[in-house]
Amino acid sequence: MASVDMRVYDEIEALEAILIEDLAVKHDDGVPIIETVVHPSTGDQIDLQYVCVTLVVKLTPDYPESSPEVFLKNSRGLDDSLLSDIDLKIKEKLDRHVGNPIVFELIEIVREYLTKWNLPSGQCVICLHGFVKGDVFIKTPCYHHFHSNCLAKHLINSEKYYMEEYEKLPNWQRAQSLPYQQTCPVCRCAISFDVKTLEEAPPPIESINAPPFRLTAELKALQARMSAMLARQVERGGVVGSGDDGPPLLTISTAADNEEPRSSTSGAQRETNSDRVVPSTSTDNTPDQPYRGPYRGFNRRAKPGRRGRGAAR
Ligand SMILES: [Zn+2]
Ligand SMILES: [Zn+2]
Repeated sequence: MASVDMRVYDEIEALEAILIEDLAVKHDDGVPIIETVVHPSTGDQIDLQYVCVTLVVKLTPDYPESSPEVFLKNSRGLDDSLLSDIDLKIKEKLDRHVGNPIVFELIEIVREYLTKWNLPSGQCVICLHGFVKGDVFIKTPCYHHFHSNCLAKHLINSEKYYMEEYEKLPNWQRAQSLPYQQTCPVCRCAISFDVKTLEEAPPPIESINAPPFRLTAELKALQARMSAMLARQVERGGVVGSGDDGPPLLTISTAADNEEPRSSTSGAQRETNSDRVVPSTSTDNTPDQPYRGPYRGFNRRAKPGRRGRGAAR
């Protein structure tokens, strides 16, 4: 620990003074790891920050005489090509400035990029259209972006779905279930928006200007590929509820029931299936075998017969 250069402590002290609570310094074997979340410069208007990234600088034991290791993580609103541009710029900077404290300048490089690209890149995951000038969109506290109108639709539907599921519950479970909570459609962080206000925003511009749907040759080829893939999955028993219905949804069988279906193919398959499930102590396959419970032909998630049918081929 004593071998860490005094300049390192000076640098960290200066960073702490500037960044205050935005800086976290950990130590790995006495060597500092500096972590800070970098935002674009938008003055006091935090609402206008659409992107951010965490910069991690792992100092080396002889820093600043050798370059630190630098990573970017937890990026929000930035696409991969932009991140690799930033990476490249950081590497250039490191190469040119070996021997000097560099962390603050790295932060500035990242901040400069973020300020220039302070627009959500990529698509709104709800409508899959991009963000263009004039779109009304919103940033969640977890730094995910959606067209306001899209988010309104999503929240209305997710509440409706919650209520539908709630109605199906028996009373004792209703009493225990948590009240509806809006969540981010990307990361499920709890969010809280006024749906009425969001709903007043216009729909995404690209959705209005999008050309009418046309079945192109490319789409037809894709369709053909997909249906071949589906046929293959159906054939291998990988598709539930298509064609062959598999075992009935709930099979309650008694010793007497076991007599008949054993002769048919599906009966034999089910037998194989349940042999694997039943503990090895009851290997006896005679017709007067004891009642085995209602779950024959089910895998553990109660989906009918997938495992059994797949294994039989
Ligand atoms: Zn959208
Ligand atoms: Zn989120």
